[in-house]
Amino acid sequence: MLLGCIADDFTGATDLANMLVRGGMRTVQTIGVPANGSSIDADAVVISLKSRTIPAADAIAESLAACRWLQAAGVRQFFFKYCSTFDSTERGNIGPVAQALMQHLGADLTIACPAFPENGRSVYRGYLFVGDGLLNESGMEKHPLTPMTDANLVRVLQSQTSERVGLARYDTVARGAQALRERFETLRAEGVGMAIVDALSDADLYTIGEACATMPLLTGGSGIALGLPRNFEKQGLLRDPGSASTLPRIDGPALVISGSCSKATNAQVAEWSRNRPSLRIDPFALHRGEPVVEQAIAWIRDRIGTEPVLVYATSTPEEVAAVQKALGIEAAGSLIENALAAIAATLVGDGVRKLICAGGETSGAVVKALDIRSMQVGPQIDPGVPWMVARREPSEAASTPRDSADIALALKSGNFGTTDFFAKALAMLDAR
Ligand code: ADP
Repeated sequence: MLLGCIADDFTGATDLANMLVRGGMRTVQTIGVPANGSSIDADAVVISLKSRTIPAADAIAESLAACRWLQAAGVRQFFFKYCSTFDSTERGNIGPVAQALMQHLGADLTIACPAFPENGRSVYRGYLFVGDGLLNESGMEKHPLTPMTDANLVRVLQSQTSERVGLARYDTVARGAQALRERFETLRAEGVGMAIVDALSDADLYTIGEACATMPLLTGGSGIALGLPRNFEKQGLLRDPGSASTLPRIDGPALVISGSCSKATNAQVAEWSRNRPSLRIDPFALHRGEPVVEQAIAWIRDRIGTEPVLVYATSTPEEVAAVQKALGIEAAGSLIENALAAIAATLVGDGVRKLICAGGETSGAVVKALDIRSMQVGPQIDPGVPWMVARREPSEAASTPRDSADIALALKSGNFGTTDFFAKALAMLDAR
């Protein structure tokens, strides 16, 4: 294994894995730290944690546990992945986790670069831009959990760490990898431990990747992963870069589950429902204790042998507001997530082998209900959303071979995907 990544949330981990696969690295994403002694066959592993907003001490402990597993797996380089808007609480967790990983790995210098120009995130003289505006004017300053009120990343990171924070500027990056390596030497000599690196374009990301080829630890958004696969490819270490996205073939019935109420998902559900079978789950009936889940399962079982079906709770903002007002935001959320996850688990037990799931939280609930621990990452369906195959180890609890068979999964959060996403994703599997 070459590259070991620790991501501070699930969808960010998928985004990074997608990027590495595009660069030719066979990549597996795990949910949480894999069991001690377990092995994974891949060029890169992305361990997804949920450590973005938890207390810093817990984020450090989980990240170090992930790091130890990756060390035992023999990885050559480590990457701590966070959001391209540098999402942090007042106390961290980017600075504290990066510092703990540095100390653990004996790294005297690391970079911090959230730039992702393709998605409008660029860093100029240490200031993070979102599109044409500064981070603290992008709406992120009002984020409920991680409000970002300062766009100066040197200052933000310095407030989170006792390591000295410095800057490698865009004009150095523009002069190429050798110039950037020299800048790192100067910063090191000045006692700097973490360097914010400017990046305005994909070309900059490739330069940064090349300059950091031998750095033990990198930190940043998924953007800097653009330049990393090349380093390993140049050394002839990638086994088969041309087929990194190839997944094992999965045959069987397909089910689409949607608990996302974002604008894009509403359009995707409407598009599918125009001429394909779909069933809406009524949150009020669920709340009244009616057998909504059982009825949905029966409805799906009647159809799924002949064609893929959609089951959804997706609603317009007005309908969602009415449900939340009557039932409470969190109670409504988990009631619906649990219902959809129970439906998915039963149908997978029946033999469903292709599952599309819309909604970040909804996907989390479904993956948990299916006891999925790791996924091999395959071809991109739409930016940020790849097909994946969940390798389900036979467990003692598995009573039939079906309970442990592999499944193709597409987990789509919020506003991702084109209007025809569901049909397009299924067509991709059938075309293989
Ligand atoms: P997204 O990725 O679009 O944010 P999530 O699955 O993360 O989607 O979040 C959507 C939340 O809304 C979930 O907790 C889900 O259970 C809840 N939800 C889904 N449908 C409804 C509805 N009709 N009314 C209220 N809440 C809903």
